[in-house]
Amino acid sequence: MKTKIYRFYSDPGHGWMKVPRSDLKALGIEDKISSYSYQRGDSVFLEEDMDVTTFATALKEKFGHDLKTRGTNSGRQSRIRSYQAYSRLCHHGYVYETCKECAWERDFVDGGGTTQGS
Ligand SMILES: [Zn+2]
Repeated sequence: MKTKIYRFYSDPGHGWMKVPRSDLKALGIEDKISSYSYQRGDSVFLEEDMDVTTFATALKEKFGHDLKTRGTNSGRQSRIRSYQAYSRLCHHGYVYETCKECAWERDFVDGGGTTQGS
């Protein structure tokens, strides 16, 4: 049985597990992570209640790996809380919801024309 070890950061209120974004992609769970998690650069900090469980389940199902965490407790408010809320990135590499290219593509797929209400 293989074990994957990830770093876990906690403060007095909550905890997050640091994973590379590429791991979320490899597991196919980019869409399943909530906005209670945070992101910074290529790292994603999964919140402990739900998203770590989602990750652990996928890791087990897809690769048969057990998840282990190695923790650091800061004892005071973590700076992770000041990071950007997690969101999946589009194929342009931007936050999907705010990407202008994607908005344009969505409109195009919808048929392009504007609908006028009465
Ligand atoms: Zn885009």
